[in-house]
Amino acid sequence: MNKTDKIITLAQKEGRKVLLEPEAKAICSEYGIPVTKFQVAKTEKEAAEFAQAIGFPVVLKIVSADIVHKSDAGGVMVNLKTKEEVQAGFNKILQNAKKYKANAKIVGVLVQEMAPSSTEVIVGSVKDPQFGPTIMFGLGGIFVELLKDVTFRVLPIDEQEAAEMIVGVKAFPLLNGYRNVPAVDVKAIVNTLLCVSKLVMDHPEIKELDLNPVLAYPHSVKTVDARIILE
Ligand code: ADP
Ligand code: MG
Repeated sequence: MNKTDKIITLAQKEGRKVLLEPEAKAICSEYGIPVTKFQVAKTEKEAAEFAQAIGFPVVLKIVSADIVHKSDAGGVMVNLKTKEEVQAGFNKILQNAKKYKANAKIVGVLVQEMAPSSTEVIVGSVKDPQFGPTIMFGLGGIFVELLKDVTFRVLPIDEQEAAEMIVGVKAFPLLNGYRNVPAVDVKAIVNTLLCVSKLVMDHPEIKELDLNPVLAYPHSVKTVDARIILE
């Protein structure tokens, strides 16, 4: 059994529909989607050690199947630059999580590489009652939330369809280089869409997938948050 099947089987055995961020990212990684380096710390000492190994600055996040929207729970801290900040952050995140949901089952704190800020895109997949698995693409933030500037296709998609999805959003000029915003690696986004297509088609157990955000750079992309919900 490959890593992805193992992770899905474990969640099903535990009666969980939500995969944890480290699980979702391990699956993404197996399917060729670049993700931030990460490790799950159980103690503040471990958190500091992992941060040192990954390299500063780092991001800390709560790992709990009971907390799906981590920032809403005070469960994300970015740009921590020293061991001391990481140790204090570890404790603060656990405190915030307990305040948010007293009975949340907490697995640990995810220590991850901090990706430099850049243009944010999102990739999603849901099952349509009529068309089956679909894929969505858009730029992050107001483009999706306010302007609903997104494209959809029925899965599976090929390379040309993936490219059309990207060129098809109204905000595409922002990806293509605009004033002081450098052009991003559209090929790497195409590749990410194709990897998601394969992952979702290979695994009908996946009900929803959400890469939000994926940071897009001139010569690469990196997924900083991944969510997978099982049927
Ligand atoms: P949520 O569960 O609230 O969606 P995210 O993991 O998306 O949590 O984190 C919230 C925000 O923090 C992201 O939208 C992104 O802007 C920032 N962020 C999260 N992880 C990283 C990272 N590794 N590097 C840089 N920024 C990050
Ligand atoms: Mg997110």
